[in-house]
Amino acid sequence: MTGFVYSDALLKYRFSDTHPFNQMRLLLTKELLESYDLLNQDQIIIPRYATDEELQLIHQPDYIEAVKKASTNELSDDMCQKYGLNTTDTPNFKGMHDACRLIVGGTLTAVDAVMQGKMVKCVHFGGGLHHGFSGRASGFCIYNDSAIACKYLATKYNQKVMYIDTDAHHGDGVQFSFYNDSDVFTYSIHETGRYLFPGTGGINERGDGEGYLYTMNLPIDAYTEDDSFLEIFETSIKQACEFFKPDIIFSVHGADAHYLDPLTHLSCTHETFKRIPEIILKLSKQYTNQKWIAVGGGGYNVFQVAPFVFAQVYAVMQTGRALNGKLPQTFRDKWQPKSEIKLPETFESDLEAYEAIPRRMDITEKNETMMERVLRHYQ
Ligand SMILES: [Zn+2]
Repeated sequence: MTGFVYSDALLKYRFSDTHPFNQMRLLLTKELLESYDLLNQDQIIIPRYATDEELQLIHQPDYIEAVKKASTNELSDDMCQKYGLNTTDTPNFKGMHDACRLIVGGTLTAVDAVMQGKMVKCVHFGGGLHHGFSGRASGFCIYNDSAIACKYLATKYNQKVMYIDTDAHHGDGVQFSFYNDSDVFTYSIHETGRYLFPGTGGINERGDGEGYLYTMNLPIDAYTEDDSFLEIFETSIKQACEFFKPDIIFSVHGADAHYLDPLTHLSCTHETFKRIPEIILKLSKQYTNQKWIAVGGGGYNVFQVAPFVFAQVYAVMQTGRALNGKLPQTFRDKWQPKSEIKLPETFESDLEAYEAIPRRMDITEKNETMMERVLRHYQ
């Protein structure tokens, strides 16, 4: 059985009414899965709050204190600046510390469910905040639940963790938390940092010291389409797992590589997001006895993309198969009136508005050359 960590309290992670990071997608994901009869009460697990001690697995105590003060508007402008708080990306909001430590606690709840044998696999789509640094907020992320969870798995449960990040942005906060560490392998496939935040994640970032080769980056070209994305992902992640031989998989499923995402420049369709969990499922059978924890990540098209991407991950984990065809009418009837944009009718209907990319061959070749340069270090 696959666990699903959720409570409405997760929706309180909201910087402002107009901020692109909108956890409403979690509720849509839950209701979509319920409308397919894929999710029932036995599978839902209520998230707990992370403790200060757990936050300190990655974050500095002074940063945690600063976030607490910012939550009640008691942090000076200078201090906000020092810690990356109250910026356009991460504006302060009331109750921020609690909302953020609930996200972290939700991911740890998923970890505990798997490690204590209650579930073989578990998801927490509220998590996946991969940009937070030890002493600084960044890119819509205050606390880095993903890095904390990987550290928690490595220290409390003595696991070798394969961190797989398919969000369109580089998973910089997680990578640099384990750059000198060989217990956590950080893998990230993302749009090249040439034009996209955070700018890191180049092929020469391979880890350092003990952690050398335990970091792998696949920076793909802007406008990469399904075939090339999937070729690069499948080939490289297989090689990474073969090198590392993980005990457990922890994956981040940002939905922002989709061509309808407003913040990035990749050109993938739902085909990519069907195949990603299928590829990971196969690896989990091969290497980890199916032990696998999945979290969310970016995804800024809340009504057309993100819930459908998350639902595919859960569907594959639970049934071994991706969803296809028409979306349940009950789901569309309920949510269409709440959306300003048209909800898709089927899992394939995104293709109607799809425009093929003229430079397709160039992009595919460039991605292949990039991958060869990454993988030759592992042969
Ligand atoms: Zn992203």
